[in-house]
Amino acid sequence: MNKEGHVLNAVLLSIGLGYVFHPSGDVPTFRAIAEMFVPIVLGALFPDVDTAFGKHRKTLHNLPVLAIVYAYTVYFNNLHFVWIGVATHYVLDVVGSKRGIALFYPYTKEYGLPVGVTVSSERATLVTVLISIAEVALVAAVVHYQLPVQDLTTTVAGLV
Ligand SMILES: [Zn+2]
Repeated sequence: MNKEGHVLNAVLLSIGLGYVFHPSGDVPTFRAIAEMFVPIVLGALFPDVDTAFGKHRKTLHNLPVLAIVYAYTVYFNNLHFVWIGVATHYVLDVVGSKRGIALFYPYTKEYGLPVGVTVSSERATLVTVLISIAEVALVAAVVHYQLPVQDLTTTVAGLV
C-alpha cells in the first residue's frame, strides 16, 4: 500500500481500538483514541522508510524489526502503541497488496497472501477499509471473548 493507505488504516484502527477498549463513546473513548492516534500513525509510516534506506519490503518489513519496536515499550517504557502501527503496516502489505514482505529478513523470501490488489488499484482504499474493520473486529473478539465463555459456563452450570 502507499502512504495514504497506511495512514487511513492507522486512523481507522486508532478510532476502532478506542471504542473497543472504551465502548462508552465519551471522554475515556476520545482520550484513548487521542493517545493511540499519533503513535499508531507514526508506526504505520515507519516500515516504508526502507524505500530510502535498505531494501523496500525487506529491511524494515520483518518480524525482528517489530520485536525491536515492541521491546521499546518493555525496556525503555516509551514508544507505546508504535508497534501496533508497524504491525498493521505489515498486515496491510501482506493481506491487502499483491506483493508480500520479507517477514524473516535477512532471509529475503517475501510472504504474502494470494489476495489483495496492486498498490495503484482503484480498489486499494476499499481493501484498506475492509482490512481495518477486520482488524478491529478481531481485537474486539479477543478482548471481549471471556464474555461468551462466562455465559456458556453459566448455561452449563444451570443444566447440571
Ligand atoms: Zn510497506
